[in-house]
Amino acid sequence: MSRVAYVNGAYEPHGRAVVHIEDRGYQFGDGVYEVWAVFDGKLADSEGHFTRLQRSLGELQIVPPMGEAALKIVLHEVLRRNRIHDGLLYLQITRGVARRDHVFPVSDTPPALVITARATDRAAAALKAAKGIAVITLPENRWGRCDIKTINLLPNILAKQAAKVDGAGEAWFVDADGMVTEGASSNAWIVDRNGTLRTQSTRANILRGVTRSTLMRVIADSGLEVSEQPFTVEDAKAAREAFITGAGALVMPVMSIDGHILGNGHPGAVTSGLRAAYLREAAPD
Ligand code: PLP
Repeated sequence: MSRVAYVNGAYEPHGRAVVHIEDRGYQFGDGVYEVWAVFDGKLADSEGHFTRLQRSLGELQIVPPMGEAALKIVLHEVLRRNRIHDGLLYLQITRGVARRDHVFPVSDTPPALVITARATDRAAAALKAAKGIAVITLPENRWGRCDIKTINLLPNILAKQAAKVDGAGEAWFVDADGMVTEGASSNAWIVDRNGTLRTQSTRANILRGVTRSTLMRVIADSGLEVSEQPFTVEDAKAAREAFITGAGALVMPVMSIDGHILGNGHPGAVTSGLRAAYLREAAPD
């Protein structure tokens, strides 16, 4: 079956879908994006992603291309046309097409909207989660507004590529104080020596992960201890367990950090339990 993309008002065959060369996303990375996990054709953590999208747009003073109700209809139409059961839904909004100039274009320039979807394999994801991933650490080198989900992702791309070259699945950024901020495309967590779940506070320069927020609710119901006290790479290496969260990774065990194997080298009970609990919450049968 051929894939379909939504581009500025039209549903196009994916392979032929194009944007203008002076789209400010292409020229400057001047735009925002969102990614939803899709389970059984339904958007996981739907409202959290919409709320963050509105916030990202507001912070960059980009006018939403359409109201939320209309946007939901288009998103579901993209899922329907691509026959997505389980998958990932990607949305990107840029400041639109205008003659290349750093300052904002005239205010009636319409923002540009692109939506794509692809299928994922639940069984393959479960197999990956049963093995876990390796993580490398790198100095934090991103700008000071990582709370905005902008398409400007060069440091994240370089970090992710460095991880791949090292045989790892994610890179964790480490700030000037030696604290792990987050991953290149996920939030970072540990279960420390005392059994407390720890992840960087969203008051720090990180993205407020929607999966992270949902997992916080799952943890609150589970009776586990959780703290937004940041952790160092040494804390993480000494931790009982570590994992990442994100719309793509969901809850993914981390088996090693910079080559140091955690625990017995198998996903821990807390992480596995939280992955199962998250899936129950986000994708009820
Ligand atoms: N941090 C970064 C830098 C990300 O790019 C992402 C996801 O893309 C996340 C965290 C996790 O966010 P979410 O759980 O909303 O997918």
